[in-house]
Amino acid sequence: MNVTGAVLEKDAGGAEASQTLTDGFHLVIDALKLNEINTIYGVPGIPITDLGRLAQAQGMRVLSFRHEQNAGNAAAIAGYLTKKPGICLTVSAPGFLNGLTALANATTNCFPMILISGSSEREVVDLQQGDYEEMDQLAIAKPLCKAAFRVLHAEDIGIAVARAIRAAVSGRPGGVYLDLPAKLFAQVMDAEKGAASLVKVIDPAPRQLPAPDAVTRAIDQLKSAAKPLIILGKGAAYAQADDAIRALVEKTGIPYLPMSMAKGLLPDDHPLSAGAARSMALKEADVVLLLGARLNWLLSHGKGKQWGAPGSKRFIQVDIEPREMDSNVEIAAPLVGDIGSCVEALLAQIGPDWQAPPADWTGALRDKVEGNVAKMAPKLVGNTAPMNFHTALGALKQIIKERPEAMLVNEGANTLDFARSIIDMHRPRKRIDVGTWGVMGIGMGAAIAAAVETGHPVLAVEGDSAFGFSGMEVETICRYELPVCVVVFNNNGIYRGTDTDPTGRDPGTTVFVKGSRYDKMIEAFGGHGVNATTPDELSRAVNEAMDSRRPTLINAVIDEAAGTESGRIGNLNPQSALAKKT
Ligand code: ADP
Ligand code: MG
Repeated sequence: MNVTGAVLEKDAGGAEASQTLTDGFHLVIDALKLNEINTIYGVPGIPITDLGRLAQAQGMRVLSFRHEQNAGNAAAIAGYLTKKPGICLTVSAPGFLNGLTALANATTNCFPMILISGSSEREVVDLQQGDYEEMDQLAIAKPLCKAAFRVLHAEDIGIAVARAIRAAVSGRPGGVYLDLPAKLFAQVMDAEKGAASLVKVIDPAPRQLPAPDAVTRAIDQLKSAAKPLIILGKGAAYAQADDAIRALVEKTGIPYLPMSMAKGLLPDDHPLSAGAARSMALKEADVVLLLGARLNWLLSHGKGKQWGAPGSKRFIQVDIEPREMDSNVEIAAPLVGDIGSCVEALLAQIGPDWQAPPADWTGALRDKVEGNVAKMAPKLVGNTAPMNFHTALGALKQIIKERPEAMLVNEGANTLDFARSIIDMHRPRKRIDVGTWGVMGIGMGAAIAAAVETGHPVLAVEGDSAFGFSGMEVETICRYELPVCVVVFNNNGIYRGTDTDPTGRDPGTTVFVKGSRYDKMIEAFGGHGVNATTPDELSRAVNEAMDSRRPTLINAVIDEAAGTESGRIGNLNPQSALAKKT
């Protein structure tokens, strides 16, 4: 028998011997539990079906999804929210590949997760003998994650799980792949030896203190600034050093700009928030302190028009990953360490003699913020049908203001861009979106993890196209009775619903069935569906869903002509030279 506690009766030389056994299944579960990992996101199937079953029987929370990519996205967000690796469990080859997109996305976003996939036996894979779902998964996963491990012997499960956990959360967090061949699960060993083989990871993400001279260098740069700016990234949100970060901003009096998932780290309506004056802040600042934010495409690589005159900036960068420094431009003061330790070290050098930034800088930014907010305000009201992005989001903005504990998930093109700038966030780590890749399809996985990990109601604001990538998971939401309210911004298509096929044969490549009723989807699974045509209807339905915590899907009817191509990143689309000529 392959069950912990089973007693093997042996007849050794006439005498009766007994031995308590354990097996690979139980060792994987015990190793995770020993390390306080108690939730698994996955899809059952060969060879891991029993692993899910047994984990559930052993008290773990096991959430079964309809597609591995969504389970993987859930695991990644669980990792982001908890600083413990989220676990995604998949079957071999195709299931593994489905989960791999999420693993790569987690790695890109610096979210800790572990993809655990069942696999075929090495011998058969290596000789390419055509096993059921044969694939060299370890080799395929390696370039797409931080670390990848395979376990061949039950007695190595403990150390492998420990290595996977440490690799995922220490240093720059990321995705880890753990390959578990089918036969491993049924391997039997002595239970006591099995228990002794497990490893509890002590201090999985050790603090990394910055060097004192690097701190002094950073402070010197800040002191020399006439127009300093702090940019908060999702690395800062992940670090959970909320109080220290707030103290740094408030003690220095330096205006800050949150990247999208760092919104709410300090409230968006904080007097030092330059969120509504982003262009001006980036263009005019002279010293920029990056806190857990990379100078990648989302910040125009730290150069170009958006950043004002060439050579007008000096950067201080706080990051746990030394190789991030000078990735795009020269970093005048690199500060390598964990955000919490670095911010505390900076704070320690900010005494009563600290000079707040010149008032003409902070005052000009403040004026710009107030001007832009006032300009936006009238667009956000009006009870029109159909809604446009502004009127619909105006309603949702108010709801998040009144319910700051709610989790907000957001994806799409226009739906993402408008929601990011319109909906203020008031608490840390409440906004989950498309991240570094701007990937579509994170929506339902993120919403499920947000509900499971925080227990707070979740509002998922979804473009109709984005929703399609993970929409089947509304069944999962209903099955686990999660407090998720999905609002589909339905403008009949990708970007908008007005494209046509010039030949007249087919629908345009970016349009969907017009007038679709996404709300009907959730009704199929016992959830609550609402078709909302005005901001008032939308408000009422969302408030009801948040109060009742009942799985709800609202089809929000948006003017099909309201969107723009690729939202605010239309400039990334290459233009056809031939189309321009003709
Ligand atoms: P955003 O997209 O919000 O700008 P990025 O994903 O570009 O954020 O940047 C996050 C950065 O934060 C990464 O470079 C990562 O190495 C860093 N980071 C993640 N966790 C920590 C931490 N605990 N301490 C310091 N830096 C961290
Ligand atoms: Mg759309």
